[in-house]
Amino acid sequence: MGTYQIGVLEGDGIGPEIMEETIHVLEEVQTQTSNLALHFKYLPIGLQAYHRQGVTLPRETIDSLKAMDAGILGPLSTHAYDISNSNMVNPSGFLRKELDLYANVRPAKTYHGVPSLFSGIDLIVVRENTEGMYADRNLYDHSGEFMPDPDTVLSLRLITRKASKRLAKIGIELAAARKKHLTIIHKMNVLRKGCGLFYESCQKIGEHYPDIFIDDYHVDAFAMHLVQHPQDYDVIVTTNMFGDILSDQTAGLIGGLGLAPGLNAGDSFLLAQATHGSAPDIAGKNIANPVSEILSAKMMLEWLGIRHQDPQALQAAYAMEKAVEKALADGNGTKDIGGNLSTKRFGQYITQSLNSLE
Ligand code: ATP
Repeated sequence: MGTYQIGVLEGDGIGPEIMEETIHVLEEVQTQTSNLALHFKYLPIGLQAYHRQGVTLPRETIDSLKAMDAGILGPLSTHAYDISNSNMVNPSGFLRKELDLYANVRPAKTYHGVPSLFSGIDLIVVRENTEGMYADRNLYDHSGEFMPDPDTVLSLRLITRKASKRLAKIGIELAAARKKHLTIIHKMNVLRKGCGLFYESCQKIGEHYPDIFIDDYHVDAFAMHLVQHPQDYDVIVTTNMFGDILSDQTAGLIGGLGLAPGLNAGDSFLLAQATHGSAPDIAGKNIANPVSEILSAKMMLEWLGIRHQDPQALQAAYAMEKAVEKALADGNGTKDIGGNLSTKRFGQYITQSLNSLE
């Protein structure tokens, strides 16, 4: 029996709306899958936690997650947090660091029934998640941005061999199970040492996988290749900020952020989290697309299935993806992908689709 303790962190903005539908889908897939038990526990996070408990990431949330198998995190309105307030940490960045969730795995795939710029895209951006340019996680203490005077800012970028190698390993193992093509993205003509170390570390890992085709590009040139022939790529490994930007670009290529899932993966914990932010422009309107979070939860089950050698979790993940594919192919969806269903109605359609899978 695969029994998993799952933390549910609703997040800000559209988070609670898309999470509700995600949990409905998970509950339904659980009832349909024998020997799969998902125990959900809601944990405080984000602005709700701040208003109730005075902190955006309560200690109880961190400690509870550490005792669980995985979590599902909604998006967070970190742009609205006061960074000078030590009780308003960015929970997403903090959890990635604290739980050592070093790989942010962000797939982009085209779906029948969804208007997109191209057909036949099926790629994954694997983004380093714990260091790089992001000032909230590249120092042990304080921020990686400094102001020597009011008109000057210095920003640090952290790249280590250890983080680069373990990220490359995740990427290359994904490629080995897919189209056997790994693309390393860097900017080592300018960032010679940092990107040079990242590139060299990835190549070193690649030496152990002679059947994987490995190529590499400067990030600027790659941004162009990606919009010209995105079907040519399989697994892309890159540093934190490049990966953050490129994964929004790949989401745009397949129909938008509402379809873009993600998983923060460490060696002992998994945190499902859609690629997008909290979308304040549409929050509370019941129009957000829940697919991004539903497919993130599907990735969580898939990875749990692989790690625990649990065919039931794998089967449940497969069923969730098929249900989403069916709903989209039937021409259903929210406004962002050209449909007219509400978040709730679309979520219900996906849940019902689980029942009508062949
Ligand atoms: P962050 O920096 O926190 O990732 P962002 O600035 O990239 O945030 P998002 O919140 O991701 O901004 O929103 C970008 C755009 O995508 C907005 O117009 C938003 O409404 C839209 N969007 C994001 N997620 C969804 C979704 N699930 N369904 C529909 N539209 C979405």
